[in-house]
Amino acid sequence: MASVKIFDTTLRDGEQSPGVTLIPEEKLAIAKQLAKMKVNVIEAGFPISSDGDFNAVKMVSENVSGVEVAALARCRKGDIDRAWEAVRDAENPRIHVFIASSPIHLEYKLQMTEDEVLNNAVEAVKHAAQYTDNIEFSAEDASRSDIDFLARLFEAVIEAGAKVINIPDTVGYSVPSEFGQMIKDVKEKTPNIDQAEISVHCHNDLGLAVANSLAAIENGATQVEVSVNGIGERAGNAALEEIVMALYTRQDYYNLDITQDTTQIARLSKLVANSTGISLQANKAIVGANAFAHEAGIHQDGVIKERTTYEIMDAKTIGLDHNKLVLGKHSGRHALKDFLDKYDYELDEESFESFFKRFKGLADKKKNISNADIIALLDNELYDYEKIYELEYISVLTGKGLLPTATVRLKKEGEIIQSAACNGDGPVDAIFQTINELTGMEDIKLMSYKIDAVTEGKDALGEAFIAAEIDGKIFTGHSSQTDITEASAAAYIEAINKYLVYMNNK
Ligand SMILES: [Zn+2]
Repeated sequence: MASVKIFDTTLRDGEQSPGVTLIPEEKLAIAKQLAKMKVNVIEAGFPISSDGDFNAVKMVSENVSGVEVAALARCRKGDIDRAWEAVRDAENPRIHVFIASSPIHLEYKLQMTEDEVLNNAVEAVKHAAQYTDNIEFSAEDASRSDIDFLARLFEAVIEAGAKVINIPDTVGYSVPSEFGQMIKDVKEKTPNIDQAEISVHCHNDLGLAVANSLAAIENGATQVEVSVNGIGERAGNAALEEIVMALYTRQDYYNLDITQDTTQIARLSKLVANSTGISLQANKAIVGANAFAHEAGIHQDGVIKERTTYEIMDAKTIGLDHNKLVLGKHSGRHALKDFLDKYDYELDEESFESFFKRFKGLADKKKNISNADIIALLDNELYDYEKIYELEYISVLTGKGLLPTATVRLKKEGEIIQSAACNGDGPVDAIFQTINELTGMEDIKLMSYKIDAVTEGKDALGEAFIAAEIDGKIFTGHSSQTDITEASAAAYIEAINKYLVYMNNK
């Protein structure tokens, strides 16, 4: 059975979402999870754009296996050389070059003629071909380009060595039947198209990115470019989880083999939401909080009698079996190791010990520990990076008529620093102000601060989530603890640590 290649661009297009900054270690954690889900290609970044991007692509290339890794480049020699340098150590590296093809981009942005664009594209592909034969070529704004020019351009780059030609709906302008027709036309009009794969890259400005991608698949596209949770420029890209689950759930219609592991979706979605700070709307398809919730009595009654009366997908298929109770107070290292194996988590010794300590702390306070609790605890250990500050101790004194006072002790590169201050508008503000004082980071603007309960019940784990603006960039932090003041402090410190790593990498 045929299948469609899933090309994930969360780390490149997704990271271009307004306000999103990912440090290389976060990108690596996301890439590992994408590989676990068995996507076919990971576009890890745009190496010429910054040293941070270059390092992230390099880190992903050197540490993630079982997947192709792509690096983006404009049709310029310097871009292509830098892209290759970053991606060359990947198991299967790909260079992805692009240039715009629409009249509006040619006239106003590039100030080039069609022939100049074509020559540029051919030169770029030839230059990339010195390094690898795994070359993808994108005609930016293809959906608003002249079809005959596109066919001429694609024929020339395939001749020069491109193995994948990508047809992006860069500005999210197309509608499904029209976009499907365009794929068909490209196929018909490009004489050597059988030597290349057809890819599409759809944006969601009209909410049609997934529909357009599916229309393209029906008309011969064999690769779709997607991002986790649909993040990306403006309204974002086609959502990975929606495309995969549409193909999976309607296999009867598409007749395509699904080679991805759908049970990794929930974890991947959460990891991306936590790292980017872009949280999900409750009614988001597949991964929203309400995606598997039933409110109407008739529906609830139906689902209890037979799940499929109102559910077309089983939550377990995307890896949600949240409320199952798995471990308790008496579970030891062995049981935890089994759990990690079963859910395919890899932790080094140090992370495991830290995780185990926190698990024991939770087990002392909470009678029944569910799957969701453990996964929330694990989220804190998912990526390792140079942490300048670590939270050692925290206490907050507050009450009616009392000035909130926070005492915070941090470890800074092995050294203990401590401060107590009565300040702030409330206990959480007091904590943050005290941390600002201790770290000397006075210019932190809190963009959002949220506390969620991971599971039900009054002994539930609290998950604190923070997005903070430092130096004009947004950094996120999150932490799950039974004590929400501790979770808040740890999340705040994480955002600061990530800022410091980002500055080191710049
Ligand atoms: Zn894009």
